[in-house]
Amino acid sequence: MKNISIASGVLAIAGVLFLIGMWWYGTPCRTGCNVLLIMVDTLSAQHIKTYGYDRDTMPKTTAFFEKGVIFENASANSTWTLPSFIGMYFSDIGSRVTYADLEERTRPHLQKELRNHGVNIRTIRAVDNDFFIMDAIQRLYNPEEIIEGTGEYNPFTLGVNTLNELSNSEKPFFLLVHTFQAHDPYRPAPQYQSLFESSDKYTEVSLNDLLEAGKRTPLDMEQADIFRLRYDQQLAETDENIARFLEGIPEQTLRNTVVILSADHGEAFGEHDRLLHGTNGLYEEEIHVPLMMRIPGVTQKRIVEPVSLMDMSPTILSFMRIPTPEEFNGDDISVLIQGGSLGERTIPLVTGFPYYVTPETRTNPPKFLKDAGVVGVNRELITPKVVGVRRGSEKVIKELLPTEKIFWFDLASDPEEKNNLAVEGATPPTELMEVLASIEKVTLR
Ligand SMILES: [Zn+2]
Repeated sequence: MKNISIASGVLAIAGVLFLIGMWWYGTPCRTGCNVLLIMVDTLSAQHIKTYGYDRDTMPKTTAFFEKGVIFENASANSTWTLPSFIGMYFSDIGSRVTYADLEERTRPHLQKELRNHGVNIRTIRAVDNDFFIMDAIQRLYNPEEIIEGTGEYNPFTLGVNTLNELSNSEKPFFLLVHTFQAHDPYRPAPQYQSLFESSDKYTEVSLNDLLEAGKRTPLDMEQADIFRLRYDQQLAETDENIARFLEGIPEQTLRNTVVILSADHGEAFGEHDRLLHGTNGLYEEEIHVPLMMRIPGVTQKRIVEPVSLMDMSPTILSFMRIPTPEEFNGDDISVLIQGGSLGERTIPLVTGFPYYVTPETRTNPPKFLKDAGVVGVNRELITPKVVGVRRGSEKVIKELLPTEKIFWFDLASDPEEKNNLAVEGATPPTELMEVLASIEKVTLR
């Protein structure tokens, strides 16, 4: 009897070890991966076929990523570049990151953590404005590691060489390629100008056209449709550039590198009487972004749980096997890829970043901007006027200014956010209102 029980004990232990082994083996990047993050500025998930759009704007890029993991419900936490990126780096919403956080540089930040763990960091970014505060912030963390281009510059051409250089190094790497090719004003190259609409007579859309159109209420929807077409044509051109870059990644590099594609916000074409982005609206056309990943050893998966850019930094650290700082507010969403659960989470949304530019900072920039060599500031202060929260398919938007207004949607039955449930005395769940109150508190201080 004793021998049998010893034998079954041994078998049980062997079984447990086998299961642990299987789990370990099935864990992606178990010894750490490199990470290549492609951020396509202003890429709305709602303009990609993978997410249900009727035009196939990005066939090559999506063919690459559809072999991997598609997050169906990824949100940017904000509607324009700066608060979105700042929030992503600090794993928070942009309005909870203060000038002091930037000046003191003690608060955990993606690049800071990577740097502390010996990661080779490179950023390739096309700068779309004469002043770009994000570069200034980035420079504080990685003074020598920014590679910039300007204007129409294609960051992917430089990306291939940089990736090869990084792949040949012993150190793990994090490469961020940030392109503005999808950003307004939409100017597709000639070979894309008749795409998607054979009868279309090409007319160029200027930035002025867009700004003027945005001032008119109600919007001219025929004009908005032309903007939409130009944007889609521009996405097709961007698709070629990204695909060429992806095709150039050596097979060997793909074996230990996670490739991620996402965006800092979407773009509106009149859906809620708004154009472009950063419009003080938190509707899905400006918030719903693609999030796609190619992860070594992980094949086709679609994940429906809502996630947000706040989750990006903890997830990247997890892929690189670097501990996540407690101060990060997002979660490691690679857990979802392995079939795990993160429970029911709320995703905070906010339109702005109150610390950007004030009349004072324009004449006397804060020290961190001076340190970074920034002398001129040319953008107006954008005060966050709207806060929001998402939980599952429920979404609540609260306009703070000029008067308070609540919008409550069920995205499952009303994906276009046309049916406000907060009418006739109906109020959203208390827990969601509490989240809104907490965002509001930091937003209007
Ligand atoms: Zn942007």
